[in-house]
Amino acid sequence: MSGVAITGGTKIVAVIGSPVAHSLSPAIHNAAFERLGIDWRMVAFDVAEHDADSALAAMATLGIAGYAVTTPLKAAIAGFVDVTDDASSALRSVNTVVRRADGSLQGASTDGDGFVASLNAAGVKALGQRIVVLGAGGAARSIVDALGRAGAADIAIVNRTAERAEDAATLADVARVASIGDVGSANIIVNATSVGMGDPEATPVLDASLLRVDQVVADIVYHPLDTLLLRDAAKVGARTISGLSMLVEQARLQQLLWTGQSAPSDVMTAAAQAQLARR
Ligand code: NAP
Repeated sequence: MSGVAITGGTKIVAVIGSPVAHSLSPAIHNAAFERLGIDWRMVAFDVAEHDADSALAAMATLGIAGYAVTTPLKAAIAGFVDVTDDASSALRSVNTVVRRADGSLQGASTDGDGFVASLNAAGVKALGQRIVVLGAGGAARSIVDALGRAGAADIAIVNRTAERAEDAATLADVARVASIGDVGSANIIVNATSVGMGDPEATPVLDASLLRVDQVVADIVYHPLDTLLLRDAAKVGARTISGLSMLVEQARLQQLLWTGQSAPSDVMTAAAQAQLARR
């Protein structure tokens, strides 16, 4: 943060999880607080899974306004908050906690809606679309749930481990277990696996020969920004959406829940890019 003093009235939010030292959240959120000119700051606390309840108790003691929750705490925190939104209830997972004026704790899950917002930011609507989701882990589950609520016509889930795909398919009426061949009939393809994270040359889960110019290809991996899958998709002329957009959009939803204000995505994107460039 440049030149903005922390005062006695500064409101604190924190990202909690373990490890959190390399989380992009403080940079993204603090850049937005500064641009909005509001006296809020985010810090990071390393919290082990077995300390989820005491971390929530500390909110009241220390007057912490909200948490961004990351691995491995998302499920544990969901079990302790007072109310949950539709996504967190369906997923039994919380990535955002708001301490409300009456002291009660509201849990939310912004990842899936952040993904849908990243589509919208690129001028792409989920409504009525045939979508292939590659992966069935935590992020994929949030995306399936949100795409279902956003009115997707068909959500085809392709995952290495069949049981996880079956479980994820219960999250939306239009979701089903599928195979890679379903890519041919899809309008939108999403890589929601961790393949490519931290490895620019990792072989994508999807062969580029299956892609077409009229498709949208989104990769939720954000490091590198330009994954091999997105480079392959760009080569065939498909529209591409990087994981950084989801990261920023889900953070904007978190800020809306904490502060009631709509944060600027350009500032948040630049802050994340600056952090990633140092890696
Ligand atoms: P997760 O729960 O561990 O799930 C990982 C998924 O990747 C599973 O579906 C897993 O398949 C699949 N996978 C892993 N290695 C694979 C391989 N070699 N071949 C095929 N499939 C493989 O992780 P997550 O929380 O869902 O996160 C997934 C990725 O999304 C991570 O890289 C994370 O950093 C990123 N992410 C990005 C955002 C964003 O805002 N852009 C948000 C959340 C997460 P199996 O089920 O078969 O193991």
